[in-house]
Amino acid sequence: MSSEVLPIAGSKETWRVLWQEIRRLKMLSVVAAVVITGASAAGLVAPWALGVLVDDISGDADRSAVVRVVLLIGGAALLSGVLTAVGVTLVARVGETVLARIREQVVDRVLRLPAPALDKIRTGDLLSRVGDDVASVAAALTEIGPVLLSASLTIVLTGAGMFALDWRLGLAGLLATPMYLLALRWYLPRSAPFYRRERLAMGERSEAIITSLRGSATVRAYRLEEAQLERIGDRSAVARDLSLNVFKLFSTFSSRINHAEFVGLTAILVAGFYLVRADAVTVGATTAAALYFHRLFNPIGGLLMQFDQIQTAAAGLARLAGVLMLKPTEEALAGPAPADASVELTGVGHSYDDGPLVVDGVSLRIEPGERVALVGASGAGKTTLAAIAAGVLMPTAGVVRLGGVDIRELGEARTQQQVALLSQEVHVFSGPLLDDVRLAKASATVEEVEAALELVGALAWVRALPEGLESQVGENAHQLTGAQAQQVALARLVLADPAVAVLDEATAEAGSAGARELERASAAATAGRTTLVVAHRLTQAEQADRIVVLDHGRVVESGTHADLLAAGGRYSQLWHSWTGTGTAKEGASR
Ligand code: ADP
Ligand code: MG
Repeated sequence: MSSEVLPIAGSKETWRVLWQEIRRLKMLSVVAAVVITGASAAGLVAPWALGVLVDDISGDADRSAVVRVVLLIGGAALLSGVLTAVGVTLVARVGETVLARIREQVVDRVLRLPAPALDKIRTGDLLSRVGDDVASVAAALTEIGPVLLSASLTIVLTGAGMFALDWRLGLAGLLATPMYLLALRWYLPRSAPFYRRERLAMGERSEAIITSLRGSATVRAYRLEEAQLERIGDRSAVARDLSLNVFKLFSTFSSRINHAEFVGLTAILVAGFYLVRADAVTVGATTAAALYFHRLFNPIGGLLMQFDQIQTAAAGLARLAGVLMLKPTEEALAGPAPADASVELTGVGHSYDDGPLVVDGVSLRIEPGERVALVGASGAGKTTLAAIAAGVLMPTAGVVRLGGVDIRELGEARTQQQVALLSQEVHVFSGPLLDDVRLAKASATVEEVEAALELVGALAWVRALPEGLESQVGENAHQLTGAQAQQVALARLVLADPAVAVLDEATAEAGSAGARELERASAAATAGRTTLVVAHRLTQAEQADRIVVLDHGRVVESGTHADLLAAGGRYSQLWHSWTGTGTAKEGASR
């Protein structure tokens, strides 16, 4: 079970994902595109009006012509400004919405992955996708997106405008295109590695500074100041040199773009000169064409300069889309249904990552409604076995049957319906407490939630919260105590109402009032269910129908409390050491 890197989508698949989301916002996208087009078109007015003015003045126009043109240009500029502002906002809104939906899908898909598949994924890879990648795509969609769209539209419209003035002037302007492309082809392959190395070098510089600061006591104790300063100096120099190199590269690129602009503008002016002399076009049209071309400098330059960022964003999007390519596990409730609430493990073994067997040849049948306690020292394999019995972890050997059906045939959905696992670390989700309990059953009514909380003895303190069930809980809100979080988890179990419950309870101080209350709560929540409970306090084991003692992954004893005490084996040792000292936590363990 080596960890795997998540897939990365190809460009076709990436576009499909993006396009699909944009299409869902059809109205907004169309309006945004129309508004941005309007803004770009309004920008065409000024050069054209100036061209007309040139012709008017070289003819015999009066002063009112100038005023008309000034008003026209002013109006167009105002319109263009307003439309641009609205358009950019709309495009940003489309971008953010599309991104939010893609991110939701990614998280949704990951949460629905079968547990074994999820185990194999590198957490870092996953986090960087929903974190860094989303950030870079967000920057692209909201910052570059509008620029990209309006620049492309401006380029197309202005190009069309030049051709409309005179096709020969348009062709002259096109002469710049190959030069632009050459500049880009020169720049891109050089810049990407440089930027990457620059980011790396900056990371190393920060790392050198931070480790020296964190370890300042050690640095001083061993008189490493000079060496550390030298190290920071070296790293800084590397980062500085790279930044300078990047800047040099960028300057060269800019000058190549200037060359392209120079060639295009010169071509238009020279062509214009001959065309005017041949009386084919007016001076005004040539003026307008030159102004149009000049107007392209910013959008083209902007597009070319942001090409790196566009590429980064595209890469981020491809990584997000890659997650969406993972197979969802929305298998229907097909196949055989469990016949009863029994759990049967046959010859079950498990090892993590080709390591040693931590569960070894365990065969165990739990009858419907039976309560079995699993005890054993820390590291005996209790948590592992509990996860296997709950169908959350696939064992590397043996068979697990729920209600007589092999869980590999039962499928994820049916397994989840049949059995619930309460793990050692319960998690409180941020939000209203009501929603947190409802996670187990979205359709539950407030009355049902209250009944579940009441059953586990939590309703009293929930009612005492400032806003009762609606109180915000979790990280930045009301913090629940460990015991309260356990109760909420138990209430969830009650709502989910599985036939089988597997409880891997957290270690609580033996004998504490909280522990006794939790024991009552868990007994109430699991009443009538087939239950496997990892017992850390042996009073819990005492109340079980049967006790199974695990040692180094093997079942070493099994029987009722009385039987095992009488047998005087491992359990009896554990029991005596646990009760003998009263507070002893030995024997009971995590
Ligand atoms: P217990 O719950 O009885 O303390 P566990 O099932 O947690 O025992 O652990 C059994 C053994 O498996 C331990 O040696 C532990 O280090 C190892 N182990 C548990 N979880 C993992 C894991 N995810 N990867 C590798 N080894 C693990
Ligand atoms: Mg454990």
